[in-house]
Amino acid sequence: MIETNDFDLENRIVAPEVIKADTTDDVDLNLRPKTFDEYIGQEKAKENLKIYIEAAKKRGDTLDHVLLYGPPGLGKTTLSGIIAHEMGVNFRVTSGPAIEKPGDLAALLTNLQEGDVLFIDEIHRLSRAIEEVLYPALEDYALDIIIGKGPSARSIRLDLNKFTLVGATTRAGQLTSPLRDRFGVIQRLEIYSKDELCDIIMRSSVILGVACDKDGAYELASRSRGTPRIANRLLKRVRDYADIMGNGKVTKDIVQIALDRMEVDNLGLDGLDRRLLNMIIKGYNGGPVGLETLASAIGEEAVTIEDVCEPYLMQLGFISRTPRGRCATDLAYKHLGLLKDGQTTL
Ligand code: ADP
Repeated sequence: MIETNDFDLENRIVAPEVIKADTTDDVDLNLRPKTFDEYIGQEKAKENLKIYIEAAKKRGDTLDHVLLYGPPGLGKTTLSGIIAHEMGVNFRVTSGPAIEKPGDLAALLTNLQEGDVLFIDEIHRLSRAIEEVLYPALEDYALDIIIGKGPSARSIRLDLNKFTLVGATTRAGQLTSPLRDRFGVIQRLEIYSKDELCDIIMRSSVILGVACDKDGAYELASRSRGTPRIANRLLKRVRDYADIMGNGKVTKDIVQIALDRMEVDNLGLDGLDRRLLNMIIKGYNGGPVGLETLASAIGEEAVTIEDVCEPYLMQLGFISRTPRGRCATDLAYKHLGLLKDGQTTL
């Protein structure tokens, strides 16, 4: 496999977040499941939510506020849309960083109709001042507005329609506890199994009109880092290879050729992941090596390593974090075909 060193993070093919290439692709909207039946996997979350929705509907009440947490690309936005759909209400979408002033949130809240679902992505990024506005809205469905300034300032209370807030976060630990306490339902989304990803890829291939056989889908699933967003993105890229290099069908061979060219290996690791592992192993004898040292050694920012590479490498059991720094595990050596003394096994 040829490795390139200049890395374009914004277009990283195995990024779990939305990348530039995704946003230009409106077909993605069709790929988004609209009902629980279309939403593959996450059985525990689905079962729980179905019961809460059913119960709320039976009582003629709105659904309690829901917090969904888990890594990017696992289907938090999609699931929120399904909740609104199943409740038969409008779905309003915003995100923590998009709400800059308390007035922005007030405008959103006053425009909600009875029962609507307001989805706030990256809710851990709301500022303190905005959280303060949210508390009475979540608890009493009311807004406290200050009118005037100085000694003549007074507060008036504005009633809101009852609504459901669905908050999504990749970092539940960063949520303030008063905010977390106001969610009646807190649900974690899990990394998908290969079989589930395979089903997602087969479903997407039908929607996209791409012929894909089971082995091809499974091979793609193995390289998708447990994440549907990555699986769909890889499928779209591999389709081009199938059209040009094969007979249009996505098969195991085509997936292998295409992903080798994209430098994504059989576990979904890309050049950046491998550069990091190689540096720990060859540059620092397997570690421990401090995050900052490692970052400057491979010429990336420490946050990139922490947020972009490590979650998946740790999940694979390739990296361990110790008080003295990062270490590469035996599994990492094995995957790279390296012996403990840095020699290759081949
Ligand atoms: P998140 O909000 O967690 O970042 P999204 O809800 O935007 O993730 O999901 C990313 C993409 O993955 C969606 O466009 C959707 O097509 C697909 N997807 C996510 N979860 C599922 C699922 N359970 N079944 C099928 N497709 C899914």
